[in-house]
Amino acid sequence: MVGIRYFVEVLVTCDENFTVIRDAAIDVEDGQIKWVGAEKDAPATSKKEIRINGLVMPGLINAHAHTPMTLLRGSGDGLPLMRWLTEVMWPREGLMTPSDAYWGMTLGSAEMLSSGITTTCEMYIHEEQLVEAATKAGIRIVMTPGILSVLHADSNQSAQQRIDEIADFHRMYNNPQKAVTVGFGPHSAYDLGAAICAEVGVAARDLDALLHIHIAETANEGSELERLHDGLSTVRILGESTVFEGNVLAAHSVWLTRADLAAYANYDVAVAHCPLSNMKLGSGVADIKTMRELGITVALGTDGPASNDSLDLWQEMKIAPLLSRVSSLDVTTLDAKDAICMATRDGAKALGLTDVGSLKVGNWADMIRLDLEDSAFIPATKESELISNIAFAAGRRLVSDVWVKGERVVSDHQCLTVDEHRARTECKARGLRLAQESGT
Ligand SMILES: [Zn+2]
Repeated sequence: MVGIRYFVEVLVTCDENFTVIRDAAIDVEDGQIKWVGAEKDAPATSKKEIRINGLVMPGLINAHAHTPMTLLRGSGDGLPLMRWLTEVMWPREGLMTPSDAYWGMTLGSAEMLSSGITTTCEMYIHEEQLVEAATKAGIRIVMTPGILSVLHADSNQSAQQRIDEIADFHRMYNNPQKAVTVGFGPHSAYDLGAAICAEVGVAARDLDALLHIHIAETANEGSELERLHDGLSTVRILGESTVFEGNVLAAHSVWLTRADLAAYANYDVAVAHCPLSNMKLGSGVADIKTMRELGITVALGTDGPASNDSLDLWQEMKIAPLLSRVSSLDVTTLDAKDAICMATRDGAKALGLTDVGSLKVGNWADMIRLDLEDSAFIPATKESELISNIAFAAGRRLVSDVWVKGERVVSDHQCLTVDEHRARTECKARGLRLAQESGT
């Protein structure tokens, strides 16, 4: 395949040096980046040439989501986490069929792609339908099938059965070349207990797979577990259970002590920071400043669309630094560049993906175009202002075109891969049914 050479007005690579190139060229062949640099330095080529006016940057990476909750969007607002889960979310989710999850994921994938998210890390059940929906939509997925005590560790089922099922699912579906990576999604230590989490840890390490878990989302969720373990913190319990010895992504991580954070740094546990979800559910403010000072990888996640209520990572990109500045009373704690990296390169690192998150040779061409002819980018008198404008002024409405593995999946704001009218109609009817049947 000859591939395509794109000429780009402004290319923000998000590479290690955060290189920004005006009048850039980027060669894409078989979905991968073969050359990138200034147009004037580009080698001679027989590739088809396409000129892109505007700004091109890597696609955003949503590090923590439960996307089929598109069917539950807007429900249960105003309830604290435990009541929100037990009184509204779980009754409705308990009635969700595989095809409900498929349509929820389909609509959510269209929303994410249209807003510039090219990779999503999902924790949910109905994993086959999620992968099918994501693959059809053309969004890269890290699927971590959920493990919940109520479904997988009750009197009739052992958690080991579910762990084996996920290991089989990994063997069948894990295929990074096809933009599908499989991990494990134990819900939380307070739900499953330390012993089950340890078993999941062993299985994940055996497959070199990601273990994706909620930790310390709210102040008191771990109190019963911690009481059973002589008052040790949830992080200490998981550490001593060897759970952190593999590739671990901890969502939320709001209520952690300095010692807990030091343990994260020590074990190289990455964090999926979900500031909007934490704000909407009144959960608290994660200490991103200290995490970053300790060298912990911090990515950004929307969380499920029922606790956000959108799948708009641009909001996280803006709110994460602002919330950190306000809680630390330190304006220097996180800058625009840090926020953009958290949404791209650091997201990839947190998910264990080595070939996305920046536009450099060898990476997949997962990239997005932003309209520079918008007031959000005026005047941008210098590069630092342009970078600020991306993080703080742009937003998803400026994403016009999106490519995953070099394939265009959004063109001029239209998602090419999903019949959005059909998906909306399906989700409307299915969401209504879940509300009515659950009586919530
Ligand atoms: Zn979550």
